[in-house]
Amino acid sequence: MKEPVSSSNFIRDIIDEDLASGKHTSVMTRFPPEPNGYLHIGHAKSICLNFGLARDYGGACNLRFDDTNPTKEEVEYVESIKEDVRWLGFDWEDREYFASDYFESLYQFAVHLIKDGKAYVDSLSADEIRAYRGTLTEAGRNSPYRDRSVEENLDLFERMRAGEFPDGAHVLRAKIDMASPNMSLRDPTIYRIRKVAHHRTGDRWCIYPMYDFAHGLSDSIEGVTHSICTLEFENNRALYDWFLDNLPVTSRPRQYEFARLNISYTVLSKRKLLKLVEEKIVDGWDDPRMPTLSGIRRRGYTAEAIRNFCDRIGVAKRDSVVDVALLEYSIREDLNDRAPRFMGVLNPLRVVIENYPDGQQEELEALNHPTDESFGKRSIPFGKVIYIERDDFREDPPKKFFRLAPGREVRLRYAYFITCTDVVKDPATGEIVELRCTYDPETRGGNAPDGRKVKSTLHWVAADHAVDAEVRLYDRLFTAPDPEAAGDGDFRVCLNPQSLQTLSACKLEPALGRIESTTAVQFERMGYFCLDAHDSRPEHLVFNRTATLRDPWAKIDRQLKKGR
Ligand code: ATP
Ligand code: MG
Repeated sequence: MKEPVSSSNFIRDIIDEDLASGKHTSVMTRFPPEPNGYLHIGHAKSICLNFGLARDYGGACNLRFDDTNPTKEEVEYVESIKEDVRWLGFDWEDREYFASDYFESLYQFAVHLIKDGKAYVDSLSADEIRAYRGTLTEAGRNSPYRDRSVEENLDLFERMRAGEFPDGAHVLRAKIDMASPNMSLRDPTIYRIRKVAHHRTGDRWCIYPMYDFAHGLSDSIEGVTHSICTLEFENNRALYDWFLDNLPVTSRPRQYEFARLNISYTVLSKRKLLKLVEEKIVDGWDDPRMPTLSGIRRRGYTAEAIRNFCDRIGVAKRDSVVDVALLEYSIREDLNDRAPRFMGVLNPLRVVIENYPDGQQEELEALNHPTDESFGKRSIPFGKVIYIERDDFREDPPKKFFRLAPGREVRLRYAYFITCTDVVKDPATGEIVELRCTYDPETRGGNAPDGRKVKSTLHWVAADHAVDAEVRLYDRLFTAPDPEAAGDGDFRVCLNPQSLQTLSACKLEPALGRIESTTAVQFERMGYFCLDAHDSRPEHLVFNRTATLRDPWAKIDRQLKKGR
């Protein structure tokens, strides 16, 4: 497997310095998902970065579930996250951790802060706390409970843990500075009461640490050296450091922020993706139109293509939007090398070859890959009746349309030259239902001994041996480059009504009926397709279109349609 050589970036520069100066002797990173949804391609960037650094510096990367919010977290998400990280090609070995593993240590850290007079139990309501917090231009005010004695705080905190108070009655806050220009330092809440069961600790706890408190301390407990997160946590760095500076920690991680991945025409937020799932706008987290790792896997994207994509976009300090076309390019580039070729007709038009002997059958030889001989060859059956793509025929061809038309000769890939002699229509609707053609038996294999040329080559499938299939064509889920901005909060206004098109009467060459793997293959001229892992059955094949080809025909077709 060719592994991308990871490009240098500012985090690598920092690590190089830290190792050179002896500040660290090894590198420890972590990927810290909150198990409240499925991973998306933005997470892939973080996974490739964290696991990639550990790999390249001979260090280690932990998988740590940041499971401090029991109301939104589920075991289903934990399992899906593990599957996705593994699929991407990374291994956390035995280092699978949960912030909830540290609940007792975190509780003791909180007690330590109380004893040092650096934390207090506040009994203001959530609304009051918000009002006291001030604004960006206005300092906050001290809570009337801020000066409770250490004894009273210890007593109340213990009773919070013991379950004596209802949700919201009290919180534990760090005593920092209500006038700090950095809002995250205005006495942030570090514990709240939540009388709900946790997916791992059950009913053992009814107070839960806040993310900011748990995160840095968990990093420290694990000996993480470089704690890499996205830019929205930049303002929280001071708080991250405050906890480490004010507690007796044994290891001192540093937080570094990088720009999160944004992709045009794509929503990358678990909250919003959850909405798409809950409102049944898509068919689950692994709908092939979703930017989730399970969705793009089902769509036929390879892990290698995703890793290459992540390497290509790099790691920067400033936010930007990556063109979705780059992602599509990465998958095409990968599949072009690895996908065997087949023939499949998506919108079939029946063709009868009148001078082909009745009842005759033959096998023709086809290449499984146009340039890589290691893919070998296969034989495909040919007969008197075949299917071609409906779009490959025009009764009244415009200029520049070189495919089949009345009186015109074209090549059938790996087979013969055929000439269209007649068009059969449904008398009621006028729809073309069949073409009548003749073939030239001298052109077997696709070349004329007299050297005459034809201007196009069509794919086809022999009717007697064709395998029926349903094919799902996917397009972008959104029509706006920035779906979150376009809908003014409601991205549904820019949903692409054409994002899924189901073709239920496709005809495929027989070899495609024997495929078992869900790895994508190419249907010549039509794109890359993979068996749908969820819905395909031997008696009802379902293929997903992974990507289109950048077939020059597509462009010419569009121009033709415009000109019509
Ligand atoms: P979302 O905003 O989608 O809900 P999140 O940041 O809340 O994502 P977490 O589970 O907390 O999701 O993320 C785990 C790790 O992945 C974090 O370190 C986070 O910074 C990183 N991450 C999340 N989204 C992206 C993204 N779009 N690009 C790069 N890294 C990301
Ligand atoms: Mg988060």
